[in-house]
Amino acid sequence: MNPRITELQKQAAGRSDVIGLAGGLPADELMPRTELARALAEVTAHRDEALQYGWPEGDESLRAWIARRLTARGATVDPERVIITSGAQQALALVGAACRGERISVGSETYPAAIAAFRQAGAAVVVTGGDAAYVMPGVGNPHGVDQIEPHRLRWLAEKTLIVDEAYSELRFDGQIARPLLADAPERVWHIGTFSKSVSPGLRVGWLIPPAREHDSIVDIKSAMDLQTASLTQLAIRRLLATLDYDALLAKARGFYQERAAVLGQALHDEVPGIRFTVPEGGFAIWIDTNDDGDDVALLEACIAAGVCMDPSSVFRPRGAAGPVAMRACFSNTAPDQLVEGARRFATALERWRRDR
Ligand code: PMP
Repeated sequence: MNPRITELQKQAAGRSDVIGLAGGLPADELMPRTELARALAEVTAHRDEALQYGWPEGDESLRAWIARRLTARGATVDPERVIITSGAQQALALVGAACRGERISVGSETYPAAIAAFRQAGAAVVVTGGDAAYVMPGVGNPHGVDQIEPHRLRWLAEKTLIVDEAYSELRFDGQIARPLLADAPERVWHIGTFSKSVSPGLRVGWLIPPAREHDSIVDIKSAMDLQTASLTQLAIRRLLATLDYDALLAKARGFYQERAAVLGQALHDEVPGIRFTVPEGGFAIWIDTNDDGDDVALLEACIAAGVCMDPSSVFRPRGAAGPVAMRACFSNTAPDQLVEGARRFATALERWRRDR
């Protein structure tokens, strides 16, 4: 990541007068705070394992829950194959380590920390081709639309697929596709997380590697951090026993869909000639411009106007290539602030175009 962008966004995050539409945070008000507090207290008080070391592959009961859920969606998964990770991010790092020296295609715009994880682990990131493809079924980040279903068969014909389902269950229409794992179990690295649905602060996700890779991935995971935190794994497992996870997801889908509609309408009303991708799910809207130029300067103009977003170059494996675009997150911002954010973006865009 360009350090200037990080610096600008950090400064903006510390200012109460800047509306934050960057970063892709889940809504604070959707987190099951009371139930989670109870689950944490219960496992801390009554379960020795919650405060103890555990196996690197994670809690057996949580792994079984994840396997059951995937099995219900059509992919028969043995719980033994599930590895609990410190968020989906660690799963990406582990896949990167397994693909060291190989080329992973990610498309022309993708989740920036996946690019970073693959590169950091010694894999080469390419836009097309490659030995493996990184895909996000259902809802892609940053565009908020499905990358897979229209081309499912083509994707399934690819050699190796790194399948990141971080947002897959947050499609607004609730249509959750059959996991790619179901159709190509030996070529799919399946990744999921509780970050978008429960809380990213817990740092609990999962990875299901192809069976032949399982043992070496457990070894790498163990060398990285021994195991994912016992306390949060057990608290999540307790939470899942006491709370209706599907109802939680359904509520989140409706909530985010409303916010997406507010931001979409505000962009349409407030920013003359704007083009954006109408999201099918997730946390953000991808805004395109026809302008070549410096998107960091546009970010500066945005912050000066009182709104912060994510500039397109961070999502592009080749950096600042192509017309400038911005990602605006609606997920953790109140509706009136979304409307005001769109107004401020219009001001910033006009000034940036004038001063270029
Ligand atoms: N994949 C995608 C597409 C994401 O957007 C994110 C979080 N921004 C992650 C993975 C990592 O999530 P986690 O908090 O589970 O590490």
